[in-house]
Amino acid sequence: MKPQYHAEITIQALQDIFSKDALKEIIHANSGQDALQYQINHPHFHFDESAFKEGFAYVDEQRGLTLAALRHAEPGRARAAFGRAIHALQDFYAHSNYVSLWQLGNPQAGSQEIDPQVEDLLASDQLISGKLYYPLEIFSFIPLTEPLVLRLLPCDSHALMNKDYPGRPGFEFAYWAAVKRTRQFYVALADELDEPSKVIFTNH
Ligand SMILES: [Zn+2]
Repeated sequence: MKPQYHAEITIQALQDIFSKDALKEIIHANSGQDALQYQINHPHFHFDESAFKEGFAYVDEQRGLTLAALRHAEPGRARAAFGRAIHALQDFYAHSNYVSLWQLGNPQAGSQEIDPQVEDLLASDQLISGKLYYPLEIFSFIPLTEPLVLRLLPCDSHALMNKDYPGRPGFEFAYWAAVKRTRQFYVALADELDEPSKVIFTNH
């Protein structure tokens, strides 16, 4: 996802739960995952290269760090880890073919109806995500060279598979799947928190 959509998705999913300032910290950590040094050799941050096992392990690790930080009453650290975790979860829908597989089984459904956690799909051997073909991939980010590069890159490339912005097929579905998954991730995490921890985490 492009940074502005990570921010929009996060706001859409969590704005009634976190204070404005707390949400800002989460979005800041979320966007930080797209820093240039994390675009290369960090497929687990973005669920690229079919790094599903590594991606979900990373989400779990950040979830653990969120809980640990809250046990030490460090909400800033908790929000940073939480922001990193939801970045990956949001990218999962933009970079994998989860949305396409879901649409095959639900051809009439609208984007807001998507279920982001169909277990059969998450476990499917047909589930893949885009490969990064460097250095060609870089030119797909430049508007002038994008059309040429899209013709040269294979169908399993990140450039052809991504649903990172509204011009891409399936973007709306990836967007709503990410909103729902972000909310579910918070709800499951909040289940493990006592009231005082929830209050310092959400600042609400
Ligand atoms: Zn990303």
